[in-house]
Amino acid sequence: MKATHNNDTLVLHTGNEIDGQFGALSIPIYQVSTFLQDSQGNTKGYEYSRAGNPTRDALEKAFAVLEHGKRASAFGSGLAAISAVFMLWNTGDHLVVSNVVYGGTYRLLTKILNRMGISATFVDTTDLAAVNAAITPSTKAVFVETPTNPLMQVADLQAISTLCKQKRLTMIVDNTFMSPYWQNPLLLGADIVVHSGTKYLGGHSDVVAGLVVSATEELGEEVHFMQKAMGGILGPQDSWLLMRGFKTLSVRMEKHEQNARALAEWLCTVPQIKKVYYPGLKSHPQHETAKKQARGFGGMISFELANAAMADHVLSRLRVITLAISLGGVESLICCPAKTTHASIPKETLGALGISDRLVRLSVGIENVEDLKEDILQALKQK
Ligand SMILES: *Cc1c(COP(=O)(O)O)cnc(C)c1O
Repeated sequence: MKATHNNDTLVLHTGNEIDGQFGALSIPIYQVSTFLQDSQGNTKGYEYSRAGNPTRDALEKAFAVLEHGKRASAFGSGLAAISAVFMLWNTGDHLVVSNVVYGGTYRLLTKILNRMGISATFVDTTDLAAVNAAITPSTKAVFVETPTNPLMQVADLQAISTLCKQKRLTMIVDNTFMSPYWQNPLLLGADIVVHSGTKYLGGHSDVVAGLVVSATEELGEEVHFMQKAMGGILGPQDSWLLMRGFKTLSVRMEKHEQNARALAEWLCTVPQIKKVYYPGLKSHPQHETAKKQARGFGGMISFELANAAMADHVLSRLRVITLAISLGGVESLICCPAKTTHASIPKETLGALGISDRLVRLSVGIENVEDLKEDILQALKQK
């Protein structure tokens, strides 16, 4: 896929940058719950902040442009966003979902949506035949996360979208790992994109947020209705923080990726590192798919150590890289997914997928890459 716009300009000039009233170069934080009505029902465009707030609106308009969609809705977390999307379906409906999906998405599907009679089949979405085989007469949607967390498998979005169109299924993509700077699933045929804004979009590990962008007005309207009816909105302060964050998305993403590429190649040469997962490596099984559908490979790397004890040892000795869950912030973060982010997935399932206690996931920050290498080397020392 070619970049259809200059994304670095787009993130700065999306309509969210100038306040209409005074020309302030940042939309004010409308920290307000309700709005004056000149007469009953006669508003100046807003009546109650759950239904609509000018700061959140600015964020939603800007983000719809960034993801090349028709309409965006902002939520209090990525999972609130994903929940609102799943609420589009009914008892008896079935979803096909990537088998290596964010732990919280898996928990939502297997602990809550199942109780409501919405079922899910988890399949390897890098295998088109497997996706096809999982589709039943009650299937309504395919939910794809790519690259997957934490194994960095890349699903072919265009191929899945062709299949979804044939079968009249809604295609949803969790684009958190790539961000709209590198990848735009709606341009590849997806119907809905979801994001945890907590990660690269916020970018500074200081806000929890979620976003949904739809390819059509109709779908956008349905999601917007869910946002208002279920109430999982993003507050004005956090909406502002998120906009402030994504104004620098381009410079951050370029540096995250530059560091991640250098680090991934270097990790392959370190004897104590057994396996490196990064879509930017030529040896990555879906490297060509990644190249075809995205403009970059992102800043997430996973790697395996010899055993779980070694992984624990390294995680506890790092000094620059911070041991914490989450990702996408300017500072490098590391964790063991099997014990943290993916702990809600049964151990046997994790084992079968290849997510073991010796696998660590690194969100590569924007530090000097030589400092990151040195930090890993000192942590690998036994004493
Ligand atoms: C973090 C994350 C989520 C959940 O987002 P929250 O903001 O934590 O609710 C969903 N999908 C992916 C890929 C994530 O990394």
